Amino acid sequence: MPDTDMYRIRKGEVPDLVGMDTRDTSLYPDLRKKASLPVMADLTRRLADLQQLLWADGGRSLLLVIQAMDTGGKDSTIRKVFSGVNPQGVDVHGFGVPTELELAHDYLWRVHARTPSDGRIGIFNRSHYEDVLVVRVLDLVPQERWSKRYAHIRAFEQTLVDEGTAIVKIMLHISRGEQKERLEARLADPAKLYKFNPSDLDTRALWDDYMVAYQDAIAETSTDAAPWYVVPADRKWYRNLAISRILIDTIEGLDLEFPEPDFDPSTITIA
Ligand code: ADP
Repeated sequence: MPDTDMYRIRKGEVPDLVGMDTRDTSLYPDLRKKASLPVMADLTRRLADLQQLLWADGGRSLLLVIQAMDTGGKDSTIRKVFSGVNPQGVDVHGFGVPTELELAHDYLWRVHARTPSDGRIGIFNRSHYEDVLVVRVLDLVPQERWSKRYAHIRAFEQTLVDEGTAIVKIMLHISRGEQKERLEARLADPAKLYKFNPSDLDTRALWDDYMVAYQDAIAETSTDAAPWYVVPADRKWYRNLAISRILIDTIEGLDLEFPEPDFDPSTITIA
């Protein structure tokens, strides 16, 4: 069992988001931020090699779903964790407020169109989970409708898995206090101000409602095939290490292989 299983939510388990330590560093208890750089460099290289293998094998794909409260670190996680990976093999898609066309379809329509093809890594920066998070908290559709979505999502993700996609879902778990500091840092720094959106304060005011929505969504949809991980994310360096490890463990578990050539290389001479 990989160590990263400590953050994996088992099927049927209800995560205790309020009780969880968002500053935890259990995977590397003796490490400090400065000393983490070479460890991260090593994980970055390993992930790059594994992405190359995923591409070469060509029969599987990986979908990484990232969800978090505002300032949770979705963007910088993607930037740091994938910094060594060949950009040609990765598709990142951010899901924002649905367009009119998207709203005129079922909520999975826009999501299914962005799932990774064979050999590729797909990253969802927000996802179909918004349709049981913000949609639930802001009452954008009636409960009768959103409450059925957990079952749809389980079936949808199982379909992807059965057809060759490995799925990892990660909630970057920050504390309310950490969010306050990050929002204040955005306000104070002209280079970060563009990231500040006053409407984030409305979302922050509904923190407890969001935690309940996250808790239910994760409990309802963490399966053996498409597990959720709740990663402590107050310490950015640790978050990056933990997520890199989760991805490495997942890809290693796919038993990928470089394809056998259909020729004998020893018979070939390059003139
Ligand atoms: P981010 O906050 O991820 O950096 P944006 O500032 O573009 O990116 O915010 C995206 C917004 O879109 C978020 O407020 C999110 O809640 C919202 N959103 C995403 N999916 C949906 C959805 N299905 N229904 C309503 N709002 C959504």
